[in-house]
Amino acid sequence: MARMERLRGGLKTRDAPGSVRFVTFGCKANQYDTQVLREALGRRGLEETGPGADLVVVNTCTVTAEAGRKARQLIRRIGRETPEARVAVTGCLAESEPEILREIPNVEWVLGNGEAKRPVNFLRQIGQEVGPEELGIPAGITEFAGHRRAFLKIQDGCDKRCAFCIIPHVRGRSTSRPAEELAAEVERLVASGHVEIVLCGIHIGHWGLDIGSSFSSLLRRLVQVEGTGPKGAPVEWRLRVSSIEATEVDEDMVSLMAERPDRIAPHLHMPMQSGADPVLKAMNRWYTVAEYLEACHRIRASLDRPAFTADILVGFPGETDEDFERTLATAEEAGFTKVHVFPFSPRPGTPAAEMGSRVPPDVSRARRAALSEAASGWEEAFRRELHGARDRVVLEGFVGLSGRYQRVSIDPDLIAGVPPDAIDVTLECAVETATDGREISRLRGRPLELNDPQADRNTLPNQGHPTRAGGETTEFSL
Ligand code: SF4
Repeated sequence: MARMERLRGGLKTRDAPGSVRFVTFGCKANQYDTQVLREALGRRGLEETGPGADLVVVNTCTVTAEAGRKARQLIRRIGRETPEARVAVTGCLAESEPEILREIPNVEWVLGNGEAKRPVNFLRQIGQEVGPEELGIPAGITEFAGHRRAFLKIQDGCDKRCAFCIIPHVRGRSTSRPAEELAAEVERLVASGHVEIVLCGIHIGHWGLDIGSSFSSLLRRLVQVEGTGPKGAPVEWRLRVSSIEATEVDEDMVSLMAERPDRIAPHLHMPMQSGADPVLKAMNRWYTVAEYLEACHRIRASLDRPAFTADILVGFPGETDEDFERTLATAEEAGFTKVHVFPFSPRPGTPAAEMGSRVPPDVSRARRAALSEAASGWEEAFRRELHGARDRVVLEGFVGLSGRYQRVSIDPDLIAGVPPDAIDVTLECAVETATDGREISRLRGRPLELNDPQADRNTLPNQGHPTRAGGETTEFSL
């Protein structure tokens, strides 16, 4: 009964929450969407806390059946452990199985992507009155809580139909955010102290197709943003493109990356999914192995030691041993420096879930292990290749991420005092021998000025960027 009363009254009657907890599952786009809601509720005075909060916002993922299972499990646990908490479920699972979620005790609001994407909609749905001041707030976010690197979602949705993927069904067709709105958001994020802006979305290479533009023209616009930091002084900041399809990296984009290595990290994450043509065809991917490799060679020829990372799905229905061997060879030729290997798991509602010729789980596991081991060797070789190279490291503490997507540690003594947000370094590859005799390499950064007192360090001063709780994330890929 009490629950029914709350459902009718929403938050604007009694029990108005004073605190909120955020839990986020899944991809960068979801992390961004959570931040939008965090800022909207923060403006209304809700304090962000952990377990025990009055309101819990769970932003879910449904990319695999396992992701959905984990979200449901967590929501049930919240109900058991904090029965007074009211739960709002958003995101892709809320879109794909609202009825199941509504049955879970404590869940009061199930808001699909259409309802929760815009903060005004979300606030109204949970019973908050929305005045004209909320409507006048610029779209997007002003900071990415707790991080030096900020995600910026530039589009949502996808027009493709890969056989294994449910995402287009829950996020709809590709929709692009306006370039000027994004440029203004970059300015705000840099002003908040973020020195790396990671462009993300569901299919970012399709940015602009719905508004008569192109992703490379957006990049050209964004690199022109002259960033000023929290103290009003100009700062160096950079973009990272994150995940983009290899066949959508056009000549204009590669030229721009070559022209502005200071502004665009030399790293591309290009999902390959398979390195065998019959499997790509069965997956309904739109390129051949030759086309994928041609893109890799073309990009590599124009950039200085770019880092290529990829997603590969192993054990897709019908994948033979020979197909897998081809995938290994293709991945090696592509020159990946890191690979995220996913064993196929059938996602109900996708064509692949109905396909026969299933690969036994133990075979999938063995393929995953073999590919992961090969990828570790490629990453190891890349680290050694980087020895002596200069790079910019965005620091969180004394460890940071280089432009080429490598974790780099810095000796605290070398940057005594308050650590800066980002620092230009010469990379040193230190090789150590593990107890089992294997050689393991690590990258360390030596601040540039220690090597060359005349060098223009371009090192950013400490900007006193505040670090505060960024909510809970279950799978947070940076
Ligand atoms: S390109 Fe394929 S895998 Fe990526 S979101 Fe679209 S349908 Fe899914």
